[in-house]
Amino acid sequence: MNLHEYQGKELLNSFGVRIQRGIVADNHKKAVEAAKQLATETGTGWWVVKAQIHAGGRGKGGGVKLAKSLAEIETISENIIGMMLVTPQTSAEGKKVNQVLIAEDVYYPGDNEPEEYYMSVLLNRATGKNMIMYSTEGGMDIETVAENTPHLIFTEEIDPLIGIQAFQARKIAFNLGLSGAALKEMIKFVTSLYTAYVESDASLFEINPVLKTSDDKILAVDSKVTLDDNALYRHKDLAALRDLREENAIEVEANAAGLNYVDLDGNVGCMVNGAGLAMSTMDLIKQSGGEPANFLDVGGTADAKRVETAFRIILKDDNVKAILVNIFGGIVRCDRVAQGVIDAYRNMGDAIKVPIIVRLQGTNAVEAKQLIDNSGLDVISATEFQEAADKVQEVLA
Ligand code: GDP
Ligand code: MN
Repeated sequence: MNLHEYQGKELLNSFGVRIQRGIVADNHKKAVEAAKQLATETGTGWWVVKAQIHAGGRGKGGGVKLAKSLAEIETISENIIGMMLVTPQTSAEGKKVNQVLIAEDVYYPGDNEPEEYYMSVLLNRATGKNMIMYSTEGGMDIETVAENTPHLIFTEEIDPLIGIQAFQARKIAFNLGLSGAALKEMIKFVTSLYTAYVESDASLFEINPVLKTSDDKILAVDSKVTLDDNALYRHKDLAALRDLREENAIEVEANAAGLNYVDLDGNVGCMVNGAGLAMSTMDLIKQSGGEPANFLDVGGTADAKRVETAFRIILKDDNVKAILVNIFGGIVRCDRVAQGVIDAYRNMGDAIKVPIIVRLQGTNAVEAKQLIDNSGLDVISATEFQEAADKVQEVLA
C-alpha cells in the first residue's frame, strides 16, 4: 500500500524526522486557508502547491508550483485540483488530482546553493538486510544518476537484528560531504528515518530530495512510502490512510471479494486456482497468440458463487475477448468446480458474451468434462494444457 506525500511526511514527522511542513486541501478556498495557517505557524511568505497523486515526477508534469501570494495559491490550486496530471511515472492519460499539499517554501530566497540529496530505505533481498541508499545527486531522477554516475550512489546495509549503529549514520553524513551542525542534523535524520521505516513495517521509503538549507537544517521535501500489506493488520492507523481513488477500481473490488486479481493489458481473461498455475497459464495464453488480460487466483474454494464473482470481475474489462478457466482439482473435486462453472454461467444469463474455455484436471476430471459437455451451454472443455491453449487460439482467430 502506498501513501500520499503528505501522509508519508506526517508519518516521518511523528518519528522525529524534520520535514517541509504543509497542510492538505481539496479545494482552492481551503488551500488559501491552509496557506494562511501555515504562514502563521512557520513564518513562511512563499509556498509550494504540490499535487497529491500516487506517482513521482510531479514537478516535471507541472504538479509542483511556487506561489508567492495568496492570490497565486488560489489560482494555482484551482488549476491543479481536478486536473489529469501526466508525469513520467503515470500513464498517458495521467492521474486525477483530488488534493494539493500547501507546503512552506523551504528554498530560501537568496539561498543560491541549497543542497539536495537522495535517500531511500528498502530491503536487500539478496542479503536479507535493510539498506539505506543515498546520493549527493538528489532532486533528479535517481535512475538517471544510476545510469550515468553510479559511483555517486552509496549503500549502507543495516542488520535488522542490530539496527542502525551510530557509526553508520556518521558515515552516511560524511559521505554526503557534511560537517558541523549539518552533520549532526543528518545523523539524527538518518537514524529517525530508519526507525520510522522499521516501526511502520514499510517496504520502501524514498526521500528525494532531502534538503540542506543554508542554515544547516536537514529536511524531507518529498516522501514516497510503501507499506507492507501483510503487516497492515498491526497498523490500523496506517491502514486507514489508504486512498482507494488511487487504485485500480476492478482490483479494489476483486480484493474486497477475497480474490487475488491483478489487471493487465491483454485480451484473454483467466481464472485459475493457485498462483503458480496462474503464472504458467498466463505463459500459455501468450504462447497461443493471446495476451493475458489479468492475473486471477480464485484460491482453494472454486464454488459457484466464487466462480460467478470471478467471471463478473473479469468481464468488467472491455478488452476481454475470451476467458480461460484452468483449475486443478486436488482437494476440490473437478466435477464440483464444473458444476460451479455451469451454475455461475446459468445465473449470469446473457452477461457472458465471450467464449469460455474450461480446462479441469485432477480428481474426477473425466466426470467434470462430461458435465460441461452435456450442459448445453456455450462452454468449450479441454483436458490437456496444450489443448486448452489451442482452443483459445481458435476462438481468437
Ligand atoms: P516530484 O517531482 O514528484 O518528485 O516532487 P518533489 O516533491 O520532489 O518536488 C519537485 C521539485 O520541486 C523539487 O525537486 C524541488 O526542486 C521543487 N520544490 C519542492 N519544494 C520546494 C520549495 O519549497 N521551494 C521551491 N522553490 N522549490 C521546491
Ligand atoms: Mn521527488
